[in-house]
Amino acid sequence: MPGMTFAVVNPATEETIAQLDEAGVEETDTAVARATEAFPAWRAVAPLDRARLLRRLATLVEEHAEELARIESQNVGKPIGGARAEVAMVAQVFHFYAGAVDKHHGQTIPVAGGVDMTFREPLGVVGLIVPWNFPLNISSWKLGPALACGNTVVLKPAELTPLSALRLAELVLQAGIPEGVVNVVTGPGRVVGQRLVEHHDIAKIGFTGSTEVGRSVMQGAAGTIKRVTLELGGKSANVIFADADLEQAAASAPYAVFDNAGQDCCARSRILVERSVYDRFVELLVGATRKVMVGDPQDEASEMGPLISAQHREKVASFVDGQPLFRGDVPDGPGFWFPCTLVEASNDDRVAREEVFGPVAALIPFADEEEAIRVANDTPYGLSGSIWTENGARALRVARALESGVISVNSNTSVRPSTPFGGFKQSGFGRELGMYALDGYSELKNVFMATS
Ligand code: NAD
Repeated sequence: MPGMTFAVVNPATEETIAQLDEAGVEETDTAVARATEAFPAWRAVAPLDRARLLRRLATLVEEHAEELARIESQNVGKPIGGARAEVAMVAQVFHFYAGAVDKHHGQTIPVAGGVDMTFREPLGVVGLIVPWNFPLNISSWKLGPALACGNTVVLKPAELTPLSALRLAELVLQAGIPEGVVNVVTGPGRVVGQRLVEHHDIAKIGFTGSTEVGRSVMQGAAGTIKRVTLELGGKSANVIFADADLEQAAASAPYAVFDNAGQDCCARSRILVERSVYDRFVELLVGATRKVMVGDPQDEASEMGPLISAQHREKVASFVDGQPLFRGDVPDGPGFWFPCTLVEASNDDRVAREEVFGPVAALIPFADEEEAIRVANDTPYGLSGSIWTENGARALRVARALESGVISVNSNTSVRPSTPFGGFKQSGFGRELGMYALDGYSELKNVFMATS
């Protein structure tokens, strides 16, 4: 909006680190018009040339990795070590989709009287709306497949964390990707995001964010029958069976919740523990949680930074009443700090039902495998989860029974550039990453040619 600006704040210091122009409907429309104009030429770029441009972008991200990691660390309050790992993944994602450009094939299908063939056509202009917790990473998960398929893009970062997307847009041009192919618009979700969702010239919305906003995106998209991919909230279970390597499971569990200060859609924020080893596991978990280094994100040793804002800290605090099982320490002084917190809960408690999106884990005991599966699935969400057991058959049995899109066994990792990522139930639909994401950024066209 002409004359309107907004402040971007470092959540670890509460200092303003940038003042940006705030886009409104007019600026959004201009970006959509630029992307529309750029589309015919971009879709016509020969596949191997498009691959080469994406490869160059991946290389530029590698060359600017430290700078991008610093931007992300300061804007989101992420520990610098974690921010570096995320930027490394951004480069890997662009490398993956550079390699994928000419491997997303059509088919020929045996039919009578001619030849039937399928083509993967780009959609046109796609709107990408991303959250503040992994700004650059999640942008790359959408940009990679969107560009590989020949679409042009309007990317809307979250108001709180727009800086890395703006820098990436400069690297996109430096890589030789033509003007207008990637457009970044910074402004409020209910204005810029909403406009993209309703815009007639936007063919698809790739959305990552809360389930609540995802619902409104789906409603808004109905007006134009827009395609949508929704990557939404989670309330994932970390299921620890008595026959697990308890030391390893307990050492790993804090990072499955407190990484990114718990602001992670994949956070295993319900820790389900078989009753026969509950006390032993709690003891090990408290010991491991005590070791999480909470502090200045710029400090190489830090493992957890602050929350994103004062308002978000209030929301997180509302989940903890009374004396928790464990509460860690936080630095004094400015910053939106919240300590690592462990609470004992039943699966009916609010802390076990709603997404906290902060460093709060709920410990819930279970009696046997059947109850573990029932409790793990007793949630409207279904994004990720972990199973810890030394029994291979049980691991696979439970993995198949969980209503969740991304599961790990004896591990808490969820994302890799080449493997599908996305939710069941109210965690959304559609898949990001891997070859699967390409299906969401292309239309399948069927052509029959008579030969008789
Ligand atoms: P959010 O839903 O508030 O915002 C996400 C994005 O949507 C932002 O860019 C925001 O500006 C925009 N937006 C807000 N209102 C809009 C509207 N009416 N129309 C269109 N766009 C609008 O989410 P957040 O607080 O930024 O992020 C946290 C949430 O994201 C959590 O629920 C988390 O679980 C989820 N998340 C999910 C995944 C996943 O892959 N499943 C990954 C990361 C985060």
